[in-house]
Amino acid sequence: MYKRSLSSLLVTLHKVPITVRYYSNSAKKHHYDIIISGGGMVGASLACTLGKNTKLSNKKILLLEAGKEKQYNYTDKYSNRVVSLNPATHKLLNDLNAWTHIKNTRFATVKRLQVWDAVSDACITFGDENAIEDISYIVENDLLLDAVSKELKHISNLEVFYNTKAKNYSLPEYKDDMVKITLEDGSTYTCDLLLGCDGFNSQVRKAMQTQYVTWNYDQMGIVATLELSEEIENVIAWQRFLPTGPIAFLPLNRKQSSLVWSNTPEEVKKLVNMSETEFVDAINNAVYRTYQRSDIIETATKAFDNFLRFFNWPVDMSRRYPPKISRIEEGSRAAFPFGFGHATSYICKGVALVGDAAHRVHPLAGQGVNLGFGDIICLNEVLGNAVNCGSSINDLSFLKDYETERQKHNVPTMLAIDGLYRLYNNDFAPIVLLRSLGLQATHAMHPVKDKVIDWASI
Ligand SMILES: Cc1cc2nc3c(=O)[nH]c(=O)nc-3n(C[C@H](O)[C@H](O)[C@H](O)COP(=O)(O)OP(=O)(O)OC[C@H]3O[C@@H](n4cnc5c(N)ncnc54)[C@H](O)[C@@H]3O)c2cc1C
Repeated sequence: MYKRSLSSLLVTLHKVPITVRYYSNSAKKHHYDIIISGGGMVGASLACTLGKNTKLSNKKILLLEAGKEKQYNYTDKYSNRVVSLNPATHKLLNDLNAWTHIKNTRFATVKRLQVWDAVSDACITFGDENAIEDISYIVENDLLLDAVSKELKHISNLEVFYNTKAKNYSLPEYKDDMVKITLEDGSTYTCDLLLGCDGFNSQVRKAMQTQYVTWNYDQMGIVATLELSEEIENVIAWQRFLPTGPIAFLPLNRKQSSLVWSNTPEEVKKLVNMSETEFVDAINNAVYRTYQRSDIIETATKAFDNFLRFFNWPVDMSRRYPPKISRIEEGSRAAFPFGFGHATSYICKGVALVGDAAHRVHPLAGQGVNLGFGDIICLNEVLGNAVNCGSSINDLSFLKDYETERQKHNVPTMLAIDGLYRLYNNDFAPIVLLRSLGLQATHAMHPVKDKVIDWASI
């Protein structure tokens, strides 16, 4: 993917300026090859990946994190913040050895995913409970961070500063300028390459002055830890699209699941403030309630179903329902705003954006952090290639490869997620009819379903 011809390599080598920089002792102490600003799931994992990349073993790396070092204390109580990780992210965490710590603590496997529409009969399923292949893995955010942090401690060319907030970034204007970072305590650090992993409100992105396309969704998310009314082989992730937004259950263990419920800000406010018993009733009602249906849509979807059957398409619309919820973990309810954001450039001289700093999506497809992990895999490869070719790690032609490659994947994924949000946030009958027929057709066409799963897995 990033292979270059020998001739272009020679041209690159020829162009590499031999710069000799003289530093005083204190300036040397404050200079790093790479500084990563933001040590959330993406920043910490990026630090771990680059730190373990043998091609970068002579590069000094610094990770700055504004928050304190998070300690994951194992208790029976699950954290209410969990993520669904795709197989590519799982593989990366495995390669970093972080998965060993997760595996030794806890995680859940999703073998089957069922998505269905509340206002029509349309339903789609992916995967099979008895299959060997896993669709995704559910892990608590804090556990993931803890697992990666354990590995960071073994990396000799990496330093981590917790409780350290970058206050100002001064980006290079001229050829040999470096990135200068001023911390809140007034101290300054310089680096050849700054990697902005500071989340969707990224200050690094603002310093780059890149265009940022953004909007807020007219929805917020409410999360909680749910207790199921019966013990089950809990390997199915469920998502029902209601007229007000999707409600999803992600498995945690045989008796518990994690809720992510998107709803209007007014409804979320009510849901957060009602008693826990009322909240449980509201969840069961959202999953089981029969919504009023249009006769035209019913007739059309039934006719389409018969049509698919006539041509022997596999239309097994065996819709099932998750077990009812009996209670929620006390105090586990929390609400989050949802928005869309995309930086038109992920790179500029001496800087690259990674994770939510570059792109933010609605969590209805569980892709947000997975896109960030995809960025990590790509950037790690690109920086390794730059070193292999004798170029500097901030060589824009290599960073451009990173930007191009990731935007090729991120932009269509983000547009598809935004499209899904708009398609389902609508109860106009012709739109409901179209999306129902589309879902039925996709469900019947296994090659199309396989393509969807393949795309979401990388
Ligand atoms: C309800 C909900 C459910 C979700 N579910 C999923 C899911 O199932 N699957 C999925 O893939 N994604 C999911 N996401 C999205 C996912 O949570 C985000 O994509 C992910 O957290 C982004 O990680 P990040 O490290 O890029 O950014 P962040 O998590 O925002 O981390 C940024 C870090 O930078 C630090 N920082 C900020 N400014 C500075 C500074 N100036 N100096 C130093 N440090 C700084 C912050 O302290 C923070 O630690 C979900 C999101 C929500 C809200």
